[in-house]
Amino acid sequence: MKAQEKIWMDGKLVPWGDAKIHILTHGFHYGLAVFEGIRAFSTPDGTAIFRLDEHVERFLNSAKIYRLDMGYSAKELAKACVDLVRANPAKECYIRPIAYTGYGEMGINPLTSKVSVGIASWEWGAYLGADSTGKGVRAMVSSWTRIDSRSMPVQAKCTANYANSALAKMEALAGGYDEAILLNTQGMVAEGPGENIFRVKDDVLSTPPASSGILRGITRDTVIQFASDLKLRFYRNDATKEELYTSDEVFFSGTAAGVAKVREIDGRRIGYDGAPITDKMVKLYDGAVHGKLKRYSKWLTPVKP
Ligand code: PMP
Repeated sequence: MKAQEKIWMDGKLVPWGDAKIHILTHGFHYGLAVFEGIRAFSTPDGTAIFRLDEHVERFLNSAKIYRLDMGYSAKELAKACVDLVRANPAKECYIRPIAYTGYGEMGINPLTSKVSVGIASWEWGAYLGADSTGKGVRAMVSSWTRIDSRSMPVQAKCTANYANSALAKMEALAGGYDEAILLNTQGMVAEGPGENIFRVKDDVLSTPPASSGILRGITRDTVIQFASDLKLRFYRNDATKEELYTSDEVFFSGTAAGVAKVREIDGRRIGYDGAPITDKMVKLYDGAVHGKLKRYSKWLTPVKP
């Protein structure tokens, strides 16, 4: 990671190297931290943050689910993200707000700890590599089951959830794959460790519903909007892993990964005739985030100097 200049910590922009927390930070021990992943892109009008308000809203909702009171409004958090991107040299970056139970008290009860908030940004290329928009990545169905909302609130983007994601990711990498696909406790397709998943069969696009235990992704929502604008047939429905194997196209969606084509799952090649709908989504997403499509400029928050 290339160091940037500033990190936003509890209301102030501090030098990158000074953004440190104590070893006894409560959230570090008990998994009580909620976070976001946002991206800023270069556009013809300068750097802009993609769907900032939706990310801030999800950030506040994650905190609400865990009873964490950040003490900042949506407007203040959005401004903090803009101020940070403006203060750092990168023209395109990933932005990571995180709210966590801070230093002072230990023990599982988080309510005695003050909530701290930090926001960092750094340059981050395509999360699943260059193949993700070219020939596609190779995925495996994980032996780990996606966490269930009866045990953990899956709609909260809590760091604790990512122990489950990390187990699946490590297993995929150890098996020589690029990414994992997690099934839910019903054995139906849920999502990737940090991405939602879509499939195309006979020109019909579909993705698992929120009730399948996924994180409701903002990129997923973007793709759904594209599908509507393209007048594609689209459904939110459950799929088995066999239905993925026999799909014409499969792709992941996520802020880090973008729209990422999948070319193989568990050794089965996906589709044989290219991936025209995925290619369209890749192109539309690239156009929207880079401010090349007027229709989607409402999703861009400019970072003016
Ligand atoms: N699922 C999980 C588990 C994730 O961590 C992410 C990344 N935030 C996503 C899906 C995709 O969400 P988004 O498109 O909002 O980045």
